[in-house]
Amino acid sequence: MEIRHVEAVPLRRELDERFANAQKWIDSREYCLVRIETADGAVGWGECWGPIAGTRELIDDRIAAVLRGRDAERVESVHGDLVHDLRSAYHSTIPAGAVSGVDLALWDLRGNAAGASAATLLGGRRRDAVPAYATGHFWPPADEFETVRESVVSEAESHVDAGFGALKMKIGMQRHFGWGPEYDVELVRAVREAVGDDVALMADANHAYDLPAARRVADGLADLDVEFFEEPLPPDRIDAYARLAEDSDVSIAGGECWAFAPEFRRVANAGAVDVLQPDVTSAGGLTSSRRAAEIADAAGLATYPHVFGSAVALAASLQLLATLPGSPRLEFDRTPNPIREELAVDPIRNEGTEVPVPDGPGLGIEIDPETLAEFRVD
Ligand SMILES: [Mg+2]
Repeated sequence: MEIRHVEAVPLRRELDERFANAQKWIDSREYCLVRIETADGAVGWGECWGPIAGTRELIDDRIAAVLRGRDAERVESVHGDLVHDLRSAYHSTIPAGAVSGVDLALWDLRGNAAGASAATLLGGRRRDAVPAYATGHFWPPADEFETVRESVVSEAESHVDAGFGALKMKIGMQRHFGWGPEYDVELVRAVREAVGDDVALMADANHAYDLPAARRVADGLADLDVEFFEEPLPPDRIDAYARLAEDSDVSIAGGECWAFAPEFRRVANAGAVDVLQPDVTSAGGLTSSRRAAEIADAAGLATYPHVFGSAVALAASLQLLATLPGSPRLEFDRTPNPIREELAVDPIRNEGTEVPVPDGPGLGIEIDPETLAEFRVD
């Protein structure tokens, strides 16, 4: 399984309507996929977090040369050497998205070669389908709070109608609209009243607050029986996370901005979160996400992987979720996104409250070459 060819495959699609979270307006979805081919013609696909710019050049101009001739079966060894090479080349900064994309492609290749799913290679499935929560509830352009409230409530009702028993919504409207934390709690209250007490509700602030504001919001969310409060604070404020988690009656979640085992160990040891959320496209692939999940389990924390990617990221996340202890949930992005919906020959869909884990080898999906060509932008 000698690696012969490594290439970045950039995909982009403009959205018909833009939407916002606490940090940014999103008007397109773009992904840098990684395609690795071995000398015997086997192919694996991975996906890197973040904009195409930078990652594409890193994969094509540096990583491809480092990987050529290596044995694709030796995933942990390649992962370790790549981290070492990039840390040295980039002065202690490791481009985590690029490592992740390569790592996912190697797991896909290794599974394809063995005729086994990545979940099997990771130790085997604990479940064949994963309970999902509908993620979305981003904000439309608006001048009035009522416009946002009506949009978010109507979206929440549509997910419950589609069979979902758990929802995650966005809070932290101050940056875009000037509406403070009391409006955020009001938005959650409106959704709670609309969907009732039997639907599990989570809230994601995309690190919108400082500690005093986060405390006020946490009190409001606890009163509304919110299951977890995600990214209340900027990801580098670990001490403040720990103080909030200690004081709050709502569980604190975070992890989509953290990468590699030492960082996950640091936040677990600090008591920063109750729920750890590594993203397979940015935490260091399946290799590092599995390590993060082991650190979480050993510390008594839950792992709910963060997912906001294409069909590749979704498939890889399901492979990891199939193996995790406890009762993890899949983050199932419900925003309009043709690259997520159409890239796999058999799209990944929910069946009521659950999403089945794909049965095929590797990451379990087959990339549709026509769709790939349609979204490719180089
Ligand atoms: Mg989030």
